[in-house]
Amino acid sequence: MSLIVTGTIGIDTVYTPDGQHREGVLGGSAAYFSAAASLYGDVRLVAVVGEDFPQVHRDTLAKFPRVDASGLEVRAGSQTFRWGAKYMSNMDERETLFTDLGVLAEAPPTVPESFKDSQYLFLANSHPAVQYDLLQQLPNVKLSVADTMNLWIETAPDDLTKLLRSVDGLVLNFEEAEQYTGHRNPVTAGRHILELGPKFVVIKKGEHGAILVHREGLSALPAFPTETVVDPTGAGDTFAGGFMAYLAKTGDLSYDGIRRAMAHGTIVASYTIETFSLDRLADLKPEQLQSRYDEFSKMTNLG
Ligand code: AMP
Repeated sequence: MSLIVTGTIGIDTVYTPDGQHREGVLGGSAAYFSAAASLYGDVRLVAVVGEDFPQVHRDTLAKFPRVDASGLEVRAGSQTFRWGAKYMSNMDERETLFTDLGVLAEAPPTVPESFKDSQYLFLANSHPAVQYDLLQQLPNVKLSVADTMNLWIETAPDDLTKLLRSVDGLVLNFEEAEQYTGHRNPVTAGRHILELGPKFVVIKKGEHGAILVHREGLSALPAFPTETVVDPTGAGDTFAGGFMAYLAKTGDLSYDGIRRAMAHGTIVASYTIETFSLDRLADLKPEQLQSRYDEFSKMTNLG
C-alpha cells in the first residue's frame, strides 16, 4: 500500500549532555520518518530544501533505497531549514537553540502527480496550514495521521485545530498535548483531542513509552529499555515511521492493529537513538529489527 510523508528535511546541530555534539547533520521530521518507514516498505517523500542542501546529505538519503525522493524539491535562491537543540541530563528534555525556517517560511512543496494515488499519509512536523494544504492534495487517502510540536502550538493553534478536524490520527509528545489542551493528564488531553476530530491520538512520553487514546479504548506501551542512548533526536519521527509503515504494509487499521503498529514504532525509535542523525538506521538489518521486536513482545506479554 502506498505510503507518503510530507514534512521537513533539515540540517541539525545537536548537543548531548556528555559533551558530544554534531554540527550540520541531516535531520528533519520527514527525513527521519522516511528512513524508518523504508525499513518496512516503499515510502514517498515530499519536502523542500534550499540550494545550500549538501550533496553529502543527499548521499545519506540514498542509503535508504526504498525512499522515493522524487518529491524532494531543491528551491533555487532559498535556504534549507536549520534547527539546533541541546539535551538535558535526563536525555528526555531538550532546549531548542535555534530554528531557522528558511524555505519552510515560503510556499510548500507540491505533491507530484505520480504520488496522488497514495493511501497512507503521514503529515510529519511542519506548519499546520501547510499540513492541511498537503492533505487537500491527496484525495485517495485511507488513513491520515499528523504530528505537531511546541513551535506550531504556540504560533498557529487555530491552523492546528482546523487540521485536526480532517485527520484520522494525531501523534504528539506528552508536553505538547498538555500545552495544546491545557490538561496535564495524558488521557484527559487525549480525549479532548478526540473531541476535535481524530479517531485516535498517540501521546509519546519519551523513555516512558507511549499512550494510545482511541475511540475504542485505551492502551499503554513502554519504551524498549536500552542502555545505549546517544542522541534522542528523531525518536518521535522514526516511531511514526515504523508505526505508519506497519499499518500501510498490513492494512490492518483495527484497534489491535494500531497497538501492534505502536510496538513497531517503538523498536525503530530504540535503534535511532543509538547514534546521531540517521547513522544507525542506515546500517540496520531487517533481522535486527525483528529480533528486538520479538524480545519486546516477550517483555510486554503478561499472559
Ligand atoms: P523529534 O526528535 O522526533 O521531535 O524530531 C526532531 C527533528 O525535527 C529534527 O531533525 C529537526 O530538524 C526537526 N524539527 C525541529 N523543529 C521542527 C519544527 N518546528 N517543524 C518541523 N520539524 C522540526
